[in-house]
Amino acid sequence: MSQLFYIIIAILLLQFILETVLDYLNAQRYNAPIPEELNDVFDEAEYKKSQAYKKTNYRFGLLTSSFSLILTLGFLIFGGFEWVDQMVRSVTTAPIPMALLFFGIIMIGSDIAILPFSYYSTFVVEEKYGFNKTTKSTFFLDKIKGWLMMVVIGGIILSLIIWFFQFAGSFFWIYAWGLVAVFTIFMNLFYSKLIVPLFNKQTPLENGSLKTKIKAFAKNVGFELDNIFVIDGSKRSTKANAYFSGFGKEKRVTLYDTLINDLDEEEIVAVLAHEVGHYKKKHIIFNLIASLVLTGITLFVLSLFINNPAVSTAIGVSQPSFHAALIGFGILYSPISEITGLIMNHFSRKFEYQADDYAKDTYAALPLITSLKKLSKNSLSNLTPHPAFVFMHYSHPTLLDRIQNLKR
Ligand SMILES: [Zn+2]
Repeated sequence: MSQLFYIIIAILLLQFILETVLDYLNAQRYNAPIPEELNDVFDEAEYKKSQAYKKTNYRFGLLTSSFSLILTLGFLIFGGFEWVDQMVRSVTTAPIPMALLFFGIIMIGSDIAILPFSYYSTFVVEEKYGFNKTTKSTFFLDKIKGWLMMVVIGGIILSLIIWFFQFAGSFFWIYAWGLVAVFTIFMNLFYSKLIVPLFNKQTPLENGSLKTKIKAFAKNVGFELDNIFVIDGSKRSTKANAYFSGFGKEKRVTLYDTLINDLDEEEIVAVLAHEVGHYKKKHIIFNLIASLVLTGITLFVLSLFINNPAVSTAIGVSQPSFHAALIGFGILYSPISEITGLIMNHFSRKFEYQADDYAKDTYAALPLITSLKKLSKNSLSNLTPHPAFVFMHYSHPTLLDRIQNLKR
């Protein structure tokens, strides 16, 4: 076994330990006293329920992550990658079909292995706390659609990248970067039109007082907003959401039907004002550019190591290949992507304050505060997370921090 093999095992173990410690620290604060500003989020019975929900998720999360770790380590140590690689090589030795088969087996295989966990999470945990609205047929159809999408989109991208590698050698990363950039921008523009309809129904927001209020706000801040859609989120869960997608003529706002049911009209406009804030403060463009730059860096570093046979053999295969090197690199690079993830989370939390400030300045703080409280209540969210957990995982500031900022 190579030295890199042990480094890979060490990375997987350290990541597991770090996550487990963070989850443990966070769980120690489930019973912490509720901050005064948040006293009115839950009543007594609801708070008990939210604590029970968090504890269930904590225990179940620990079980899931332990299972994943054992599965991954077992697969590595007992030569799982070598076994799949040999199986694929007995079918074909052409690099592109070989890589497609290899990744197809690994990804769908690992998804099937954790399927019982996601089934339990949806139909036992979420069900018990009244969140789940998914039927079993929707659940399995989602899985199959997800796999088909991964096979088609992932298959095309992977084939093209290997094809670039075949004719451009180490410079493949420049072509791959161009491909990913075009794909990312295309998806940003057309995700709502092409992908969402495979899973959900979207209808334009009907005329009425809500639409009038939204239009009045948009006009007031000089924001062109013609595409407002309602999505049937209630088909799967009672949890509510709203998001912005696209830019230029393709920009649109999508409101979950659950959001419309849970919030009053002023609150919905306040949530939209927050979303418009992200757009006006150029957060959407920043995130797009940042993700393209990070992808470029990752692909460049990949190009430095892809020809090194040690990166392939690090996952226990005997014959080096592009696909094996890709998996080896993926694990070896993951500590770096964790760090970039941390930095992106830091920016994201900063942007949330800016979007909240925008909503406060152009609309009002109070309806945003009450909407945030309602949304937290309805998702039984954690009012007292551990600061270390927030630092590592939260893309949004805590409810308390956001409310204190809005009241300032
Ligand atoms: Zn936001």
